[in-house]
Amino acid sequence: MLLMLGMAGGAALDLAPAAPPRTVAGWRIVQADFHVHAFFGDGTLSPIHLLLEARRRGLDAIALTNHNQTLVARATRALSRAMGGPTVLVGEEITARRWHLIGVGIRDTVSWRQPLEAAIDAVHAQGGVAILAHPVDIYRSALNDAARTTLDGTEVRHALLDLSPRRKQELEEVFAQVRARHPGAAPIGSSDDHGGGGLGEPRTYVFAYDASEEAIVEAIRAGRTVAVWHGEPYGDPALVSLLPAPGTPPARSAMRTAVGLLGWAGVAGLVFGRTRAVRTPAD
Ligand SMILES: [Zn+2]
Ligand SMILES: [Zn+2]
Repeated sequence: MLLMLGMAGGAALDLAPAAPPRTVAGWRIVQADFHVHAFFGDGTLSPIHLLLEARRRGLDAIALTNHNQTLVARATRALSRAMGGPTVLVGEEITARRWHLIGVGIRDTVSWRQPLEAAIDAVHAQGGVAILAHPVDIYRSALNDAARTTLDGTEVRHALLDLSPRRKQELEEVFAQVRARHPGAAPIGSSDDHGGGGLGEPRTYVFAYDASEEAIVEAIRAGRTVAVWHGEPYGDPALVSLLPAPGTPPARSAMRTAVGLLGWAGVAGLVFGRTRAVRTPAD
């Protein structure tokens, strides 16, 4: 039964082909959203619907970043590998009272019960990159020079900008402070979407060797990113000049929780069905 549902989910995915790859000056331009929540946990979209929506919105990669857990991210990555994309990076929004830190390209859950700079080190120890999430108001209060030096990037564009233009200035201030300590820090644009239909807005354009998880993490670490919000780029002028002209984003999605449970049944069918058939080691 689960396998049948999974096959139905797979058929649905086939209706939404991945965007054709774009290459400029030898770089693969990867359109990514590195701050996304999913059901169950903090979002309302199941993994199948999230992958469908990512394809519909022209995203080549997403990082699943539920609060203080990586379980759903790992399940979604397994599903995406079985379905042929988009690239899913295992992430976590490490969530403490005074800071939220996005870990991308990690393997295991990182504890929030430690200072910000220790959490950054813990992400690095797993081979991941650490991005400070929506550093406005209280969420910038834990930022110190140690963290400014070791952060790989900050969210300089975030969906909350639609609520308050003043915050755009605040996000740029924090990014400038981090860049002053770490000139290679990456500007990141993230939707922080919880299923409200805003996936990929804002988003990050990554200049990577290819669209693999490893290449994307390497590019963030090297600072080769541009944050884009409503078609307006923020980043190094040399990279901005390489960007294609912005297209019209698809309309906001109406997909909601009602279909979430069916989607999850499909995930279970696909992941377990495939695991039984192939027996690939899960990491
Ligand atoms: Zn947050
Ligand atoms: Zn979030």
